Amino acid sequence: MDRLKGKVALISGGARGQGAAEARLFAGEAARIVIGDVLDDLCKRTADEINSKSGSKAVAAIHLDVTRAADWRTAVDTCITEFGGLDVLVNNAGIANVKGIEETSEEEWDSVVNINQKGVWLGMKAAIPAMRRRGGGSIINISSIYGIIGSAGSAAYHGTKGAVRLLTKSGAVQYAPDKIRINSVHPGVILTPMVDVVPRSELQPLIDMAPMKRGAQPEEVGWCVVFLASDEASFVTGAELVVDGGYTAV
Ligand code: NAD
Repeated sequence: MDRLKGKVALISGGARGQGAAEARLFAGEAARIVIGDVLDDLCKRTADEINSKSGSKAVAAIHLDVTRAADWRTAVDTCITEFGGLDVLVNNAGIANVKGIEETSEEEWDSVVNINQKGVWLGMKAAIPAMRRRGGGSIINISSIYGIIGSAGSAAYHGTKGAVRLLTKSGAVQYAPDKIRINSVHPGVILTPMVDVVPRSELQPLIDMAPMKRGAQPEEVGWCVVFLASDEASFVTGAELVVDGGYTAV
């Protein structure tokens, strides 16, 4: 119950889906958490729900558009003013786009790159100085199995999630001397609002490609993120953890 005791975490895209699940699990492990999202009302409701269940004020909600450096500065400042510092960053916010190379417009490309790729870089850039002041930290970047393998479509999504994988390794090398660990997580099909919009007829074949032949609950990724955030992962950096029911093992 106390695996994250004393730690302060910032989770982007924390209003719903995997980010909200991580906030719940982190609170259960005695962390204090700032969740940021562009869905302001839902983000606040998620924080209120966790706080009322735990009877504490462990979670604070803020507006965070991950494409804006100023929002990241405010998010990190909130961790410091509300909870005294920052130890863990989960770069979780992301958007999907299923279009192929020719079908993707320049506007769509820029939007996916800005959120999924630039947002991760901006988050690390903002968080690292605060972590250095704490004597170390853990950054978990949520990529995807689509950051490891290709598919016939989702061109911008593949490009960004692949970039997150190597940005993670490059950061792990650069910041090991500062005791900041940086790892990537690569979910397969996770049953969140992101995939709710995909027709079942298109989702089922993807689910069936994984040996476990099911989609996962967001908590099944969340527990892996808890591990990477905790001191149990003290020698783990630059790693890529697939959470995919065996999808990429085939
Ligand atoms: P989700 O759509 O439920 O949650 C994503 C959250 O990110 C939302 O709350 C959304 O409002 C937020 N967000 C979007 N743009 C933002 C911005 N500019 N600034 C801040 N927040 C923003 O989806 P999810 O499944 O919980 O996705 C979490 C992460 O997992 C994403 O990075 C996604 O790419 C990745 N992922 C998801 C799956 C899946 O099957 N669901 C698979 C692999 C990877």
